[in-house]
This record gives sequence, structure tokens and C-alpha cells, in this order.
Amino acid sequence: MIALKSTKEHRLHRLYGAHTSIAGGFVRAVERAVACRFTAAQIFVKNNKQWMAPAPVAVEEAKAFRDAQAKEDLFVCGHSGYLINLGSGDPEMIAKSIASLTAELERAELLGLPFVVHHPGSPGKDGEEVGLERITARMKEILKATKKAKVRVALECTAGQGGQLGWRLEHLRELMSRIAVPERLGVCLDTAHLFAAGYDLRTRADYDKTMKEIESVIGAERVLCFHLNDSKVPFASRKDRHENLGEGEIGLDAFKWLVTDPRWKKVPMILETPKGEEMAEDVENWAKLLPFMK
Ligand SMILES: [Zn+2]
Ligand SMILES: [Zn+2]
Repeated sequence: MIALKSTKEHRLHRLYGAHTSIAGGFVRAVERAVACRFTAAQIFVKNNKQWMAPAPVAVEEAKAFRDAQAKEDLFVCGHSGYLINLGSGDPEMIAKSIASLTAELERAELLGLPFVVHHPGSPGKDGEEVGLERITARMKEILKATKKAKVRVALECTAGQGGQLGWRLEHLRELMSRIAVPERLGVCLDTAHLFAAGYDLRTRADYDKTMKEIESVIGAERVLCFHLNDSKVPFASRKDRHENLGEGEIGLDAFKWLVTDPRWKKVPMILETPKGEEMAEDVENWAKLLPFMK
């Protein structure tokens, strides 16, 4: 693996890292991120392909994780499981989705995560308005069931594939306004999803226009996280295929602008590009950007 030359200055000024495996336990995720010299990580709070974890997080394990994270000064956020769909019209799917996200937020709270990134959901062919209503009602229920918790839900923008809502920034604004629990909500912006949804980033003018739109529709203060992914699929294709930075349709420039943009100085930037468990590819992706992050 190539060594990442992250300097003290990088560590002081920017939160950067990658989605990180929890195989072997939550503390292992901290170790993996630190071994890459990252300052941030994103984790699943359980196996992301299961509805429910087989057992709750042990109090000692959560404490060990929080201690390791604090000691290493590592920022860690969560990402919800892929089975959950709060936009579904199927009663069984709805019940499972609500139970699963509720349990994930409880786990995240115990782990001390500030937010869990979550895809809003797909109403299938039932249409945008029905979808927004369903997701609003179910998010309200979930936030009520976890009302003692501080952990937020960061609604992620999507590529719009498979009827997924959230491909328009207005969907995210509308959901935050209807759910109306601002202290528990925010937004995560994924560059590959923005691009595939029709928000261009390729030229400086495109980038500035998209950033202005984010500021006016969402508000910079609501942006809790960026996902840094290049796109295997063309502009406005409404498909979700991640690629290594600079090797896809977006190109490296957009990422250089993002990681040096003073607007996002405090916002964690997380890779979700193809990789193995020990993240050599993530280190290579960040090595393309760190020289510009002075
Ligand atoms: Zn993402
Ligand atoms: Zn994606």
C-alpha cells in the first residue's frame, strides 16, 4: 500500500476518509481508518444486508469504540442498511423498514455517532407526492420512537434510479420541512448522485452553479456530509455507479474544488469508491487530492 502523506495541517483542517468496514468489530473500523491516516470514516452500524442485527451492541463494545475514536481524534458517521425503503407501499416492507431504521438509530446513538446517512426511499410507480407523504409519515414515527436520542438522519441525495426520491434537491428540502424535526435532520450530498441526477460539476462554472443551488435550496448549514465518488455513468443518466476519483465522467477537478472550498471546510468528505477491506484504493484516491489541501 502507498503511504498517505497526510500532514498535521491536513489533520487540523479537514475531515476526510472513506466508508470503512466493521468486520471484526467497531474498534477495528477505527483502526483501519487510522492506518490509512484518515481523519474521518463512515460505517454501517450492523450488517447492511440484514433487517435486524442478531444482538444489540454491547455497552462495553460501544464504550471501547467511543474511546478509540476519541483517542485517535477520528470523526465517524453511520450509513443505514440497503434493505430499508420508507417509500414502499407494501405493509410488510414498511413495518420492517421502520423497525430496522429505528434500531439502527438506537445503535448509532449508543456508538455516539452524530448522524446516520440514509437514502429517503422509493415509492416505485406510485409517484413523487405519494412517496414524499409516506417517507414523511414514517420518518416522523421513527424520530418520535427515538426522541431521546441526539443522532440525526442525513437524508442523502440520490441518482434517481428505480424511482428513488431525493434526486432533486427540492425533495430533500420538502422532506425536511414536512418532517419538521430540524434538530434531528440534515443532508448528505453524493457527487456521483448529484451528477447522475443532472447537477453538473465538470467545469468551474458548473461547479459554482451547483454549489449555489445547494446553498439556496438546502442551505449550507444543513449539509452534514459529502460522499466523494466519481461516476461510471454519464451526466443526467439517473444511474448510480461509483468510480475512482478522476477515472469517471466527473473528472478530478470537481473534487479539487470541493476539498478546497471554504464553504465545506468543516464538512466530512467520505469516499464510497470500489475497494478491498483494508482500503488501499481509498488511500490512492486521497493521495490525488491531499497535495491541494493546504
Ligand atoms: Zn453515497
Ligand atoms: Zn451511490
